[in-house]
Formats: sequence, C-alpha cells, structure tokens
Amino acid sequence: MTTPNPPSPASNFIHKIITEDLENQKNDGRVHTRFPPEPNGYLHIGHAKSICLNFGIAAQFPGGLCNLRFDDTNPIKEEVEYVEAIERDVQWLGFQWEDRLFYASDYFEQLYQYAVQLIKMGKAYVCDLSADEVREHRGTLTRPGKDSPYRNRSVEENLDLFSRMRAGEFADGSRLLRAKIDMASPNLNMRDPALYRILKSSHHRTGDQWPIYPMYDFAHCVSDSIEGITHSICTLEFEDHRPLYDWILDELKVECHPQQIEFARLNLSYTMMSKRKLLELLEQGHVSGWDDPRMPTIAGLRRRGYTPESIRDFCERIGVAKADSTVDIALLEHCLREDLNKRALRVMAVMNPLRVVITNYPEGQVEEMDAENNPEDPDAGSRKVPFSRVLYVERDDFMEDPPKKFFRLGPGREVRLKHAYYIKCVEVVKDEETGEVQELRCTYDPDTRGGWSNDGRKVRGTLHWVSAEHSLEAEVQLYDHLFTKPDPEAEKSEEGYQASLNPDSLETLASCQVEPGLAEAEVGTRYQFLRQGYFCIDSKEGKLVFNRTVSLRDSWGKIAKKQGGK
Ligand code: ATP
Ligand code: MG
Repeated sequence: MTTPNPPSPASNFIHKIITEDLENQKNDGRVHTRFPPEPNGYLHIGHAKSICLNFGIAAQFPGGLCNLRFDDTNPIKEEVEYVEAIERDVQWLGFQWEDRLFYASDYFEQLYQYAVQLIKMGKAYVCDLSADEVREHRGTLTRPGKDSPYRNRSVEENLDLFSRMRAGEFADGSRLLRAKIDMASPNLNMRDPALYRILKSSHHRTGDQWPIYPMYDFAHCVSDSIEGITHSICTLEFEDHRPLYDWILDELKVECHPQQIEFARLNLSYTMMSKRKLLELLEQGHVSGWDDPRMPTIAGLRRRGYTPESIRDFCERIGVAKADSTVDIALLEHCLREDLNKRALRVMAVMNPLRVVITNYPEGQVEEMDAENNPEDPDAGSRKVPFSRVLYVERDDFMEDPPKKFFRLGPGREVRLKHAYYIKCVEVVKDEETGEVQELRCTYDPDTRGGWSNDGRKVRGTLHWVSAEHSLEAEVQLYDHLFTKPDPEAEKSEEGYQASLNPDSLETLASCQVEPGLAEAEVGTRYQFLRQGYFCIDSKEGKLVFNRTVSLRDSWGKIAKKQGGK
C-alpha cells in the first residue's frame, strides 16, 4: 500500500491554528486528530476530504496522530457491513490508524458515569415530556423556550430514574436525560439538549446490554476527550453545537478539552453527498449497490477505476475553507485523468466493431507488431499486438460520404493503423436489404510497417484496431453523471432530486473487441483504450467486463485554459 506523501506544508487556516498552538506549547506540543464516521452507510468523496484533512494534518506535524473512531450511537441505522466497508475505504485511500481504532460504544460505561456526574451536579435531569412536547417547549429562533415541568426534579429522583432507564424499565421515547442549561438561550442547541434516550435496540457491538444510548452531542465531545484529541475537526453544521461541546467538557472538568474547529463540507456538482439519500438511490433500484460505479462513494469510485492518488490530489487542490461552495465534478475528473495518464497502460479496444479485410495481406499470416505501453512512462516497456488479414475498426471511424475534415476512413481514403500499416479503403460491402455497411475491403502498403511511410507520404488519421481472429470479446459499461442537473438537491419539484436522475447514466456495449493480451489481467487493472478514455476491468466471471472510468475529453482542462490558468 502506498503511503501518501505529506502534502506540502498546507497553508489552510486549520494548519495555521495548529502551528500557533504548537508555538504556544498548547497540548504539550501534541497534535492528535480523529476521523469519526457513523457506520450507517458507505463513505463518499466528501468523507475523503475529511479523511485527507485529519490524517493529513497528523502526518504534517512531528508525532502527529489520527484515530479512526466509529461514532456508533444509533444502533437502528448502523451495521457491521458499514464498519468493514469504512475500514477498507480509509486504508485504500492510503491512510493508517495503526493501533488507534476506536468505537464510541467502547465508552458507553464511561459516558454513563459522566452523565451520572452531571446529574449529581444538578446539571442534568430526567424529563418525561413526549417528543412533541419537547419540541413545543423548545421554542424557536425568535421565541424563547419554556422550562420542562420536570426540570426541577431532585438529584435523588433523577439518579433513581436514570438508573431505571438503564435497567430497561421504561418504554422507548418515554423519557430523556437532558442537560440543564438555558431554555432562553439564543442558541437552540443550548436549550436543555437531550443527552440520553431510551432505545431498546440491539447494537452491533454491545448487543442488548444497553436500552439507552447517548446522543451524538454528548458522546462526541466526551469520546474526543477520552482519546486525548487536541483538535476536533468537523464540518460547518456543527458550529452551533460548539458551545454545547464546550459546556459539557467544562462542566465535567475533564483533563483533556479538545478544540473544535469547523470547515466547509465538500459539495460536488451533478451528485449528492448525503448517505441517507444515497441509500434511497440503491433501495429504489436506481443504482446496483453502494459500489455502483456511478455512486460518489469511495467504493463506487474505486470500482469505477479511480486511483487513491487522484482522490488525494483532488482533496489537496480543493483546499479547506470556512465557506460552503460547490466544486465542479470536472475537477475531480481532471485529477483522475492526470494520474491515469501517467500510470495506465495503453491498449487498443474497439467499442463498436466494423470488419475490415485486408485483401492483399496473405491469408494465415500473423505479424506481431511492436506497441509501446505508455509513452508517458519510460519504464512501461512495450508489448506485441497481433496483426492479420481480418481486423476490426471502430464503426464511427468510417463514413461512406465523409465531409472534408473527417480524416478517418472513407471510400478511397488512406489512414494509418496505429503500430501497424497504412491501409486504403477500396470497397464497401453492404447488407443488400438494410443497406448497412457490413465490411470494408482495404489494401495495405507493406512499406509502411510500424505506421510510417518511407516515401514521405502523410496521412491525417490514425485509427485503433484489433485482429479479428485474436481479439477478445468484452462488455463495456459507459457511465455518465447520475444527475442531469448540477445541483440535484436544489430541485424544487415534489419529486426532489429524483426529478433530475439521468436516465442515460449507464450504457452497456455488449460486443466490444479488445487486444488479446488483456486475457491475463486482473480485475481492477486500469487501461487507456487509445483515443477513447480510461477503462478498468470490472469482472471476469464468464465474460470480460470493463468500466469506463473517464473519457479522454477534459472539460476542466478547457475551463482552466479559458480562465487563463491551469
Ligand atoms: P452524510 O451527511 O453524508 O450522511 P455525515 O456527516 O452524517 O454525512 P459522518 O459519518 O457523521 O457522516 O461523517 C464523518 C465525518 O466526515 C464527519 O466529521 C463529517 O463532518 C465529515 N463529512 C461528512 N460529509 C462531508 C463532506 N461532504 N465534506 C467534508 N466532510 C464531510
Ligand atoms: Mg453525521
């Protein structure tokens, strides 16, 4: 596995805060972050930003550490499958938590004891209001809340009720443990927020041990503190929760009080980032699974053929800011092309085959043509590609009545076959009934071996091809964006994002022909199909299936050029 180079001393604002903290000897010079996913779905590219940031910061400072912590406090939505997928994805991105893999559920007993401490201090109480009543009492941004009638229960009564909550005596939702803060606070999060709820649901790690579960706001800050986190980095929607984060740790007088720092989450055009909505997509059958290559999940991107390097590069380039924005998905694709251009082996594959017979090429003869594997990589070497009398070329590379600027095949026209010979089209064979072109008869010029002529004669077009007798049949999946609109979630109609689902996000080409050398390659191997794009092997069960990772057309490169920069 590759270990990412620590990014160049990043100048983002979080890096600056930490540098200053170190200069001021804060936290005894320690830097300790964490990535805290909830195992209620697969990680997506937004999480990759958070992973690169948290693990990246740990790598940038001497002795820096980063924990992987599962925030598993809602057993209804959480599953072991998700835990395993998250571990796989973080590792695949190139990050190591070493021996620092934790679960909020590891701290359930400690959390319980801290809650008891708050009750004893008169800072928490058991509330019997129903969910609706709690909402009603909370007030609004313009109207202060009302105290719960249970707010002034005695410490003894609260301790008794809370221990009975733990013993499983009460029904789900019938009681809450709430912090006693201020029902008139302008910050709604400070209006006696819930710390514990009753939920008789089996947990994937603690089983039926607990009929009560801590709320996120309580579990999160305490877990951070227990782990000795110095900087608790999270997305902007938690900014309003920071006073509560600090209140809890201040009241508990814990030794370690991490600093919460918020940054803007990643939004990407033509996709969505919410795990809940991604789960909907798969439950409704719009995609085949969490790892469907159209999904913005790490698992989907991996299967699509993305490299971890390209995703890390993307996260580096988008930077870290304090204001929300949407990143053009073309930038992600640009980072991918740049990386694949360096590492992908070039091969020839014909998507939509048209038969070509070289009439003056000896029957039964096969030549092994030399083909370089990657002109961008001097160490990539070369391979042999068989050439014979019957070939396939791309149907799109022939026009019966071509316009002037069409430099490919047409009646009487000459082109270069990459790595092979010049050929000239001398006859077009059509189906008598449909008129469809079935075959081209061509002649080749034996003096142009390798694709170069000795007499200085030039041709404008260079086509890819395969030898019909040797090539392998393959299926190719072409992907487009899942949505037709840049911001599907902004969709106003009743259907919401469903209204902009792209009905053509997947196109399957069933009878493509690829170079024979690909038979030995492993699932996941990435290629550039000459002139077409980057592809990877999706599966080899029964048939060879490729995913198109990304086409060669670089819309970001064009945008950047227009803007006069790179
Ligand atoms: P979602 O809204 O997609 O369900 P979440 O925030 O509920 O995501 P968590 O598992 O709680 O998912 O997220 C783990 C960490 O990843 C959190 O620190 C969260 O702030 C961060 N994160 C989630 N989404 C993004 C995003 N789009 N950009 C950057 N960081 C993100
Ligand atoms: Mg969350």
